[in-house]
Amino acid sequence: MRVAQPELATAIDMQIALVDVQRRVQSRVPLPWIQVDAEWLARQHQAGRPVMRFRDLPIEWTDFRLALRQNADILLRFEALERADYDQIVALGREGNALEPLVAQWYERTAGLSDETSAPPDAPAGLEQVLVLALRPFLARSTESLGQQIDVSSWNRAVCPFCGWEPDFAVITPSADRRLICGRCLAQWNFAPLDCPFCGNDDRAGITSFATRDGRYRVYGCDVCHRYLKAYDARSATRPVMVAVDSIATLPLDAAAMRRGYK
Ligand SMILES: [Zn+2]
Ligand SMILES: [Zn+2]
Repeated sequence: MRVAQPELATAIDMQIALVDVQRRVQSRVPLPWIQVDAEWLARQHQAGRPVMRFRDLPIEWTDFRLALRQNADILLRFEALERADYDQIVALGREGNALEPLVAQWYERTAGLSDETSAPPDAPAGLEQVLVLALRPFLARSTESLGQQIDVSSWNRAVCPFCGWEPDFAVITPSADRRLICGRCLAQWNFAPLDCPFCGNDDRAGITSFATRDGRYRVYGCDVCHRYLKAYDARSATRPVMVAVDSIATLPLDAAAMRRGYK
């Protein structure tokens, strides 16, 4: 793809570098056994609230700090982060006592698990992006573990049943259902095939959908909120979705969606 579409080379290299960090950190995170009260779990799930609490995450802070730093380095190198914001984020990572409560509050707030709804006003731009990347290896492992204790097949909301984050990718199953994939913990869950998970638009006329020529990937653009979602079409595929690979393989689709005015 780098050869065929040199204008995407930088984006491809950045995504590969980010995946590389994620894999290295995640390989050091053991599969945790998360002790959760089964009744609480069921109640929380039925109420439509995410079930992954911050205190249940197996965070090794030395590894987290390293992941924060390495992800920030990559974003700076590829000019996806301003130098001043980078300096602030890296400084946060060095502050022993400030980082842990900051990450905990951010997670609980964005998961919808705390009453807090607004971000601290002095947070550097790009911090959220770096936190999502740095926390992903720990969250992904936790979701794997907690997924063995709870059945999410009846969940059909727009946000992740585990961490409350929004989807970043999707897969069309061989039975033509659509499963959304969390942009933070990589969990999958069922969602209406043509509704917009970002604004709830369920008018099919307001969704523009187009596929790649080989039929392997598809984009859904919402004509109400103008956001888009990419999907791997597994109906005639020989392998399951591989988020790291498929996100990069679909960079031309991002470009196509943005040319059509979606974001
Ligand atoms: Zn999630
Ligand atoms: Zn929408």
